[in-house]
Amino acid sequence: MNYEKPTSEVLVVDTSAILSGKQFDDYDVLIITAALIAEELKEGGRDFRRFEYLQAKGLEVHSPTKESLILIKKTATAYGELKRLSVADIHLLALAVDVMRLWEKSVCILSDDYSIQNIASILDIPFLSLSQKGITKKFKWVSRCQGCHTILSESVDACPFCGSPVSHKVQTKESMKKKKR
Ligand SMILES: [Zn+2]
Repeated sequence: MNYEKPTSEVLVVDTSAILSGKQFDDYDVLIITAALIAEELKEGGRDFRRFEYLQAKGLEVHSPTKESLILIKKTATAYGELKRLSVADIHLLALAVDVMRLWEKSVCILSDDYSIQNIASILDIPFLSLSQKGITKKFKWVSRCQGCHTILSESVDACPFCGSPVSHKVQTKESMKKKKR
């Protein structure tokens, strides 16, 4: 499989990128991940050994700032992505924001997760996919009651007015170009 190479100074990798077995030998870029992702890997297992191997080769582990975590949570809430992102995903995105804002370096996220890619697009953070095609549209999730059609909060699964099930659908699509840097 051919991978696109990032041309940024820093590459932020998610769990699937770490566990893919990819060596990153031919990448001329600082590779980092969120501390929380490292914590989620079981010590001693194959996944952890893979992580340790990458760490020995220069993978750095960092924790995002509180400010960036708040920004990501706000953005994810506004676009209906909050419940689709794990805490580790939020940390990963916040770390990318820190790299741009505090480290003042160009960044690229390596992740196949569509919700991570969506928030990255919204915040103008370049990303690459590991295997799948990346998203090419920004989207927003909207929850609507299937009975009375009331627009509801994304966190409810049953309508508080009529009790019908709630559907969660993509509402708006905006054209955008896949970010490459
Ligand atoms: Zn209803």
